[in-house]
Amino acid sequence: MNKVHHSVTLQTELCKGCTHCIKRCPTEAIRVRNGKAVIKSERCIDCGECIRVCPYQAKQAKYDSLEDFKDYKYKIALPAPALYGQFDKLDDIDYIISGLYRCGFDDVFEVARAAELVSEYTRQYMKREGIAKPVISSACPAVVRLISVRFPSLIDNVLPVMPPIELAARLAKKEAKKKHPDLKDEDICVLFISPCPAKVSYVRNPIGVEKSAVDGVLAMRELYFKLVSEMNKIDNPTNASQSGIIGMSWAGGGGESSALMNDRYLAADGIENIIHVLDEIEKENFIGLEFVELNACPGGCVGGALAVENAYIAKARLQSLRRYLPVSLNHPTDIGADGRLPDEVLWETGVDYSPVLRLDENRVTAMKKMAQIQQISETLCDLDCGSCGAPTCRALAEDVVNGEASVDDCIIRLKQKLQRLESEESKED
Ligand code: SF4
Ligand code: SF4
Repeated sequence: MNKVHHSVTLQTELCKGCTHCIKRCPTEAIRVRNGKAVIKSERCIDCGECIRVCPYQAKQAKYDSLEDFKDYKYKIALPAPALYGQFDKLDDIDYIISGLYRCGFDDVFEVARAAELVSEYTRQYMKREGIAKPVISSACPAVVRLISVRFPSLIDNVLPVMPPIELAARLAKKEAKKKHPDLKDEDICVLFISPCPAKVSYVRNPIGVEKSAVDGVLAMRELYFKLVSEMNKIDNPTNASQSGIIGMSWAGGGGESSALMNDRYLAADGIENIIHVLDEIEKENFIGLEFVELNACPGGCVGGALAVENAYIAKARLQSLRRYLPVSLNHPTDIGADGRLPDEVLWETGVDYSPVLRLDENRVTAMKKMAQIQQISETLCDLDCGSCGAPTCRALAEDVVNGEASVDDCIIRLKQKLQRLESEESKED
């Protein structure tokens, strides 16, 4: 398996070993060993859940800085639709776009524009005969990675259309070269302004494409204060926004689905909810469902760990901002008369099953390990208390079988063992 470059990292010196994070990780990627958290890199999907729950800010996201790209001749900002919900008393998106120019960008391409195109491509894709249903949105990279490690039977259901971030980057570069024919590829850089760490890791380990056209990812909360200060200097912003209600709605959970004009959809957000939904889809408990939109962050992208504002406040702001906008301002012109989608918007590669949760490649060995895990689990306290450093008793048993932990890490078991020894000693006396 290729090495995954993660955005989520641990600042070991800040970690107090409190175990808050181990239980919230959807892939059981975290253990506490010797008083400090450790992330099993191959299991992490960069969902950002541990960043949200760590009381000591020991889990952090790595991202780029604008300064890293200062030598590029032409810098394009790709604001995520979630950015529009971050500002108090804002009644016009053009302030944000003008503010981005003042922050040093040469051009701005709204991801919401690409989202409107993806909505139409998706509508068209859903009309295809013989596709796996329900179709699952591919927009949230943490969800696609979760499917690839935990729900391999659903890989074929994932929408094989480029997510808005990728399409926006490609269109932005194309537009820039059209506007400035003298620009060479190496002069241009496209920087996504991200609400979440999963998008940072998407750019470093793209899904569905060989190489992402996004050159760097800036954290929304890092750019925020500079952007606010520039926005405050603007009296009359230029009329620059080119997105409508549909594009902006992608910022919150349910926005992508409502653009499909098909009421047989399900939209869920928050990692626990999406695991539940994926479990139910795997068990074929949803009959007649056509589309599923899943966002790892609570509330959708507005709830990302790199956003500034509370997700629900941001959503309410977006609602009032889009009130006077047209439904959509971007429509594809490249869908074939027979409904064929252009190759440029389809995935270039598939999603691979990453069997990181599998016990062993060899089936017989895996079965043996399973039996050992069962045996060990029966000797543990079954409280899932986390004091051993593993999220559940079963996870500790698995670590023991894999040689990564000892049954004596279970403090209750250790206590019982010590009591036994003590009583044996006292009998001998
Ligand atoms: S980012 Fe998500 S998957 Fe990765 S360690 Fe944290 S909680 Fe687990
Ligand atoms: S939540 Fe996890 S990373 Fe944060 S201090 Fe506790 S154990 Fe360490």
